[in-house]
Amino acid sequence: MKTIGLIGGMSWESTVPYYRQINERIKERLGGLHSARIILYSVDFYDIERLQHAGDWEAAGALLAQAAHSLEIAGADFLVLCTNTMHKVAAAIERSTSIPLLHIASPTARQIVNAGHQTVGLLGTRFTMEQSFYREKLAQQGLEVIIPTAAERAVVHRVIYEELCLGQVLPASKVAYLQIIENLVRRGAKAIVLGCTEISMLIHPSDCVIPLYDTTAIHALAAADQALAQA
Ligand code: GLU
Repeated sequence: MKTIGLIGGMSWESTVPYYRQINERIKERLGGLHSARIILYSVDFYDIERLQHAGDWEAAGALLAQAAHSLEIAGADFLVLCTNTMHKVAAAIERSTSIPLLHIASPTARQIVNAGHQTVGLLGTRFTMEQSFYREKLAQQGLEVIIPTAAERAVVHRVIYEELCLGQVLPASKVAYLQIIENLVRRGAKAIVLGCTEISMLIHPSDCVIPLYDTTAIHALAAADQALAQA
């Protein structure tokens, strides 16, 4: 079994389910007392959030590149960055190490395409929804991506940083998200990408009539499967 290098803490609320779901998958596949070989580098999200909102992606990338380098030195075989947004600096991370980065959008796009969907609605931080780094990854797989309106994006973004990343799951925010999902469906979305690793704290498959793609679960499973894949 390969050793997974997790770059987490963005926020720690969503790193916890990564740890649990990777281990559950390893247990499901190997049985008994088996568990995942994991090295976790958990950053201080306070620093990351400040750099994001100041637009200093270079410094944020340097910080995560350092984390990636530390994980490689510590013995990780490949890297898993436990956030969608910070894949904006995936290239800086990849430049700093010789071990591969399992990009969160790759297994996500693969699952959606395999299920036969072509048009998806994307929820995430403002950075993920509005900038090209994430949407392009989905588009490369032939997916058409619809994002919420400007006013809706402001709500989605605020709930992530002011509530979910602080562990707050509020019924009013759930209602707001479900309304935004309904609007995306009305505009043609056939599935929804929960493109932020905290959104699955708020919205569950049973809340919606169309399929939800939870990037946390998809990424965690893909990481466990990659750890067990033969060289
Ligand atoms: N975890 C979130 C994501 O998946 C947001 C926090 C961050 O900006 O990293 O995008």
